[in-house]
Amino acid sequence: MHILVLSDIHGNLEALDAVLDAAPAVDETWVTGDIVGYGPEPDEVVERLRERGVVAVRGNHDAAAVGGDEIDYFNEDARRAMIWTRSVISDRTRAWLAALPERVVREGFTLAHGSPRDPIWEYVTTTPVARASFDAMDTDHGVIGHTHRPAAYLNDDGVMSLMTPAAGSVLRFGARRVLLNAGSVGQPRDGLSTAAWMTMDTDAGTATWQRTAYDIASVQAAMRRVALPEFLRARLSYGG
Ligand SMILES: [Zn+2]
Repeated sequence: MHILVLSDIHGNLEALDAVLDAAPAVDETWVTGDIVGYGPEPDEVVERLRERGVVAVRGNHDAAAVGGDEIDYFNEDARRAMIWTRSVISDRTRAWLAALPERVVREGFTLAHGSPRDPIWEYVTTTPVARASFDAMDTDHGVIGHTHRPAAYLNDDGVMSLMTPAAGSVLRFGARRVLLNAGSVGQPRDGLSTAAWMTMDTDAGTATWQRTAYDIASVQAAMRRVALPEFLRARLSYGG
């Protein structure tokens, strides 16, 4: 099965549409959370994903958007953006976000936003944390988001390694245990401003990471119009 994996879209419709235009035809689209928050077009992003019939899990921003106390742990800019997001999303968007599960198992993969162990909050940034995630999964493979950085954790009979994929990187994981992060569509934080995404062929056991340029100035103008915090606008320019 051919899969498009998207993560951390964060209400950035310009970036999402650029990625959807660039992506090949696939059988399914999987979304590993943080669909809203930070960006200026949460309703439109949710509508795109709804039309596409994606398989999605809930992120900390999605949970906060529907009233969760996750917002209490946000920094000042994230909190301001979330208060705005809560005030503008439609009932239809709210209901769709509220129905997202924290974890999904599909095609031999566990989907979670943070980690399979702690789907809403845990950041998988080191191999010891990745090891705990493998221990918490019933599947050999997993896809996660939350860090906004592309990554692949490999578990070869308990020996852990980390790969940081560049655009065009292909990983042939086959039957090996892997935990894969597509990076962020709507707010990359790996020093590149282009939208990050990933495709997989689950029969062949391959994953391919990609980057797509989009009209960042247009999103920043939309953010300014609704007075979203300056830092959130600025960081899109440098991917940090
Ligand atoms: Zn996020």
